[in-house]
Amino acid sequence: MELDVRTLMVVFTVNVIAVALATPAIMGWRLGPAARWAVLSMGLQAGGWVCLVLSTFWRNAWQDQASSVLAMAGMSASLVALRHAVGLWSGRTTPLWPMWALTLLMTLGYGLGFAHYPWRVGLANGVLALQMVLVVVAVGQRSPETGWRWRALIGLCMVAMAVVTAWRGVLGALYTASYPYLTAPHPVNMVAALVSNLSLVLTTVALLLAYREEAERALRAQALTDDLTGLLNRRAWTERADALLAHARRHGQPLVVAMLDIDHFKRINDERGHAQGDVALRLLARLLREELRSGDLAGRYGGEEFCVLLPHTREGQALSLDQRLRHCLRLQSVQELGYTLEYSAGVAALGQHDHTLDDLLRRADEALYEAKRAGRGQVVLAPREPLSASPAPHRPQARAVPTPVLPTTP
Ligand code: GH3
Ligand code: MG
Ligand code: MG
Repeated sequence: MELDVRTLMVVFTVNVIAVALATPAIMGWRLGPAARWAVLSMGLQAGGWVCLVLSTFWRNAWQDQASSVLAMAGMSASLVALRHAVGLWSGRTTPLWPMWALTLLMTLGYGLGFAHYPWRVGLANGVLALQMVLVVVAVGQRSPETGWRWRALIGLCMVAMAVVTAWRGVLGALYTASYPYLTAPHPVNMVAALVSNLSLVLTTVALLLAYREEAERALRAQALTDDLTGLLNRRAWTERADALLAHARRHGQPLVVAMLDIDHFKRINDERGHAQGDVALRLLARLLREELRSGDLAGRYGGEEFCVLLPHTREGQALSLDQRLRHCLRLQSVQELGYTLEYSAGVAALGQHDHTLDDLLRRADEALYEAKRAGRGQVVLAPREPLSASPAPHRPQARAVPTPVLPTTP
């Protein structure tokens, strides 16, 4: 079977162009950063191959040199973009400058030493093979958030391409007689044509898989998050809180749930408009995020109601958190909203009779109701046992916790 190397190159170039055009068309135009870099990588690869094919028609002319230099720059830059796309998708970006430095050095060295065939072929293929290995390193890094299939596909393709590219480099640099020009009918060119085609198809599939995975992740996150505040929504909060509560019960660890409800929120909406109400909700959510520790769980439970679950926490610590939050909210609301925003809170600590999250929430809600009844702007600690569980004469009473007067300036 006779395979003409230049024909194979032209066919491959047509395929790369088709993929470079089809990928953004399939993915749509509103791409995330990783997909944008992947599309850029395809475009650069297509541009590089167009220049490479053109260079074979312009042998020994200045156009040959110019298009060859552009071809090498495009292919090398395409690997930088691919590596960055992989890093963004995997959530593990590393500095790109070493990759860009390789591209720059190779392009300069290739252009300046163009007349010296062994040097330029050895340098260009050596650097490209090294960059391919760096892409393999990027896909090989542990990334629990991402699937292994698309990363394995890209890794396999890059290993195969690196082997063929290095083979070409060694032949050009050290065995020039057997590989005297790019389209020489050498077995390496046949293997390279096959590997390149296969790699193009599989890498495209891998990129589409990565893109789909990203879209699925975004949808999942959207389904769990409250749009307005960025906190967990009620369903997501309840699911996670259930799991944390079960864990605390199993291990006999302390845990506290707090329910927060903004005071006179309807009045804020009525007097200042719904949009200002939204700003107030966002402010409380932001302060909650800032004041909570990393293992704590905050969610928007309903309109202007928030729930917080504090694992490994006792009542006293929860009350200090409430005081800190209350203090920050007073200061920040005056600064950012122009009025004082207050909330009432009910706090319930996990007790023997709390078998489910609902049991605990019911007690926190009762305490919250008590806080509202007692005049708002305060926190009430739920009695340790549910009221119905104690005989009537000894019923523990909900306890309002006095709010200390804190300075109003930081
Ligand atoms: P209280 O001090 O007793 O809690 O009184 P309140 O006015 O805060 O409570 P009420 O339950 O009467 O009003 C809650 C209001 O919250 C009513 C509803 O229109 C408003 N609300 C619910 N969700 C949103 C939202 O996403 N944005 C805005 N701006 N308002 C909301
Ligand atoms: Mg309410
Ligand atoms: Mg309210």
